[in-house]
Amino acid sequence: MNPFEQIRQHITSAAKSLSLSEAEQAALLSANETHRASLSVVLENGPQNFEAFRVQFNNARGPYKGGIRFHPAADLHEVQALAAAMAIKCAVIDVPLGGAKGGVVIDPKQYSAKDLEVIARAYVKEFVPHLGVDKDIPAPDVYTNATIMSWMLDEYESLVGHKEPGMITGKPLALGGSYGRDSATAQGGVHVLLQLLALKQKHHERQRVAIQGFGNAGATLAKLLYDAGFIIVAVSDSQGTLYAKGGLDPHIIDAVKTDKGSVSSLYCTAGVCDTEQMQKDGAVALSPDDIFSVEADIFVPAALDNVLTPETIQKLQAGVILELANNPTTPEADKQLFEQGVTVIPDVLANAGGVTVSYFEWVQNRQQLYWTKEEVAMRLQEKMETAFAAVHQKALEKDISLREAAYQIGVERITAAMRYRGTFM
Ligand code: GLU
Repeated sequence: MNPFEQIRQHITSAAKSLSLSEAEQAALLSANETHRASLSVVLENGPQNFEAFRVQFNNARGPYKGGIRFHPAADLHEVQALAAAMAIKCAVIDVPLGGAKGGVVIDPKQYSAKDLEVIARAYVKEFVPHLGVDKDIPAPDVYTNATIMSWMLDEYESLVGHKEPGMITGKPLALGGSYGRDSATAQGGVHVLLQLLALKQKHHERQRVAIQGFGNAGATLAKLLYDAGFIIVAVSDSQGTLYAKGGLDPHIIDAVKTDKGSVSSLYCTAGVCDTEQMQKDGAVALSPDDIFSVEADIFVPAALDNVLTPETIQKLQAGVILELANNPTTPEADKQLFEQGVTVIPDVLANAGGVTVSYFEWVQNRQQLYWTKEEVAMRLQEKMETAFAAVHQKALEKDISLREAAYQIGVERITAAMRYRGTFM
């Protein structure tokens, strides 16, 4: 099943449980607009073409919103799925925005900053008629960042001939970015995790956490949880897993990863590991997939989609899964996890902190009045806690998973807006 089919399945089952009409279901299941193009650019090594997409899924609740990823495996189905999930996410967290997503099929690690700038600008040039502060507002996603957003904003503003900082979020502070945007996805995840643990009457200190993916979201989450007293027993990236029963210090690992490129380079260089130091630290270096089988209470997929499958979940020991990545669990695995009593905090809630602070950034840009760090932090906490409480309450009432509850809330809110707009007439 392709990822778009997966998300459509979640939407369909929410729509059925809410007794929506066939026409309403059909309108909820298809993207409003799908833009695709081949970006022709001249890079340092000569001319090249890159496939690019912008899927505008639903804007019943407000302008389209969602990141742009630069990834070699980005494809139309994936971008459609992520655009649909953005519409649900914005509705669950209750911000007045719709859902969109973009992608460029590229392995950004193979290109210089100069080349990436050319590609980022070409993306905006291609899709400029569809973008704008009241139309569609991109943001960072996998392998894109504040610098890429700054190039995109600059390109957009020179094309339209005026300043419009709110056309993109996740940009640098100097161009109108918001405090707290960098750490927002992880911080939002921390808020909902703490709420869940409080409900389960589990004291969070000494809870053991394994995190798959040590990019911005995964590394920031690891540091926030470590500082709050959790034990980070394992972290992984595409090259390997580091495990220590007694816990790792993610601040050190992050510094090493930034410097040398991988988490295992804390102990290993070119496949040769400093076993003496590892023994001293009680740590072991394992393969990337070993992250699934380490002993932990909480498992966090913070990398790519569809990593939790019926096979990989057999190895999991955790009773709680916090989905920091988008779409990390296949529908079959999701069903099995619910039956096994594993609590999954779904992506559309767990990682909604990112788009929530993007929304704050957009609000600040529109009003040209900027908030302090504290104000952003306080508003984020309030948004995450309110959304978590609503999702949890519905799940309890109906004896359904948190994901089903979140999709029902999201679908209900989007449908209400579509009804007012006469979409189904
Ligand atoms: N890419 C992030 C997400 O998937 C953030 C989107 C945004 O801020 O618009 O939620």
